[in-house]
Amino acid sequence: MHCPRVVHRDDLSISRNCGLTISRNGELALQNRIFQDSFTDSEAHHAELKDAVARLAGKYGRKYFQEVVAKGLQPVELWAELGSAGFLGAHISERYGGAGGGLSDLYIVIEETAAQGCPMLSLVISSICAPIIERYGSDDMKEEWLTGMANGSKRIAFAITEPDAGSNTHKVTTTAREEPDGWVINGSKYWTSAIDESDAVMVVARDGERSTAERSALSLFIVRTDTPGLSWQPIEAALQSNDKQFMSFYDEVRVPHEALVGEPGLGLQQVFVGLNPERVAAAGINNGIARFALEKASQYALDRQVWKSPIGAHQGVAHPLAEAYVGVQSARLMAAKAAQLFDSGEDAAESANMAKFLAAETSLVALDQAMQVHGGNGLALEYGLADLWFIARLHKTAPVSREMVLNHIAQHSLQLPKSY
Ligand SMILES: Cc1cc2nc3c(=O)[nH]c(=O)nc-3n(C[C@H](O)[C@H](O)[C@H](O)COP(=O)(O)OP(=O)(O)OC[C@H]3O[C@@H](n4cnc5c(N)ncnc54)[C@H](O)[C@@H]3O)c2cc1C
Repeated sequence: MHCPRVVHRDDLSISRNCGLTISRNGELALQNRIFQDSFTDSEAHHAELKDAVARLAGKYGRKYFQEVVAKGLQPVELWAELGSAGFLGAHISERYGGAGGGLSDLYIVIEETAAQGCPMLSLVISSICAPIIERYGSDDMKEEWLTGMANGSKRIAFAITEPDAGSNTHKVTTTAREEPDGWVINGSKYWTSAIDESDAVMVVARDGERSTAERSALSLFIVRTDTPGLSWQPIEAALQSNDKQFMSFYDEVRVPHEALVGEPGLGLQQVFVGLNPERVAAAGINNGIARFALEKASQYALDRQVWKSPIGAHQGVAHPLAEAYVGVQSARLMAAKAAQLFDSGEDAAESANMAKFLAAETSLVALDQAMQVHGGNGLALEYGLADLWFIARLHKTAPVSREMVLNHIAQHSLQLPKSY
């Protein structure tokens, strides 16, 4: 893995004052002015965690993150600080250097970093791989990867999506064949995020031996990114994110038996352990973006005066913001509930799907309205809003599309016939 380059915070001349971050263009960015309550999550230790993450990520803030992305760099300092503070391993067992918390704790880290202007998609990927390894990985796998993920020194990308299979995972054609000395993987994946920055990729492959013509049996592998035969090519995506997307290619990629996660042929069941957390984690990015947008918009609506009173006094400005706030708080409540259900071992499928759905929809409304409140400035990168659009929009499509969420709800919650 190549060594990522660093943006030093000091280069950005950020100064601090009484909990306010003053960015280098003099613009005042308030942290958590309106979203201070414990309404969506009343756990006392969550309030402490939230405050600690906000303080850490708030030191960096939106300007830092924008500059990292604009320069094609990685937020290495922020990542390292989150790792050494124990936040990257919030959901990982203490045995492997994590904080021993659950998805609820990781959710807070994800929402809070995004709310401070630093939406980190890598945290969503970690939300899938860690629970799968924790539940199904070998002791060596846990030791190496969970420990590395918890302290921030190791990252694993996740590759399930394929050009022809799309949302239908049963049609995956990337195939693993078992040989006496290990497995050989052939095929291709697309939209493999951050594989260029990762030490390994968790690959969901069709098990050549155990699949039938009607149904693919899947197996999961952790493939080191320096394995011969593994390569990738960038996809030019609209997202303004430090985490880039790639086509990844597997050409006679040989891995040892130890690279198999859990049982061969049971990959689909195993992957589900990570899919609900991924949906909640994705909701965390969007709820954080929505909070950031509403914090900025409400402050701007107070400060900006073009007639006799601040623009926020006009109900045409205030009501859409109020409506967006209702949506965002509802999405946050659902995400907190989904994480709580997952952590207590209950079925979180419906709530995780609803959390992701609500977060995607309400954050886009909030962000759009925040841009509207800013007038022309809503489109100026200096205000840090417009370039969040595609990251928020992403979660209407990924990790599971809006329509597939509605299919799930229709079939399982409403007990309607399956249409596909
Ligand atoms: C920026 C980005 C990052 C990503 N990162 C990763 C990653 O790290 N790893 C990874 O594996 N994947 C990743 N993905 C892929 C993502 O998970 C998929 O794009 C998503 O699951 C949708 O699959 P698809 O693109 O093949 O769409 P399709 O499955 O081709 O769907 C196309 C459209 O048809 C609709 N549709 C399909 N079937 C039905 C149905 N039965 N009923 C109703 N509507 C239907 C869908 O909802 C969608 O609107 C990423 C995608 C993006 C854009």
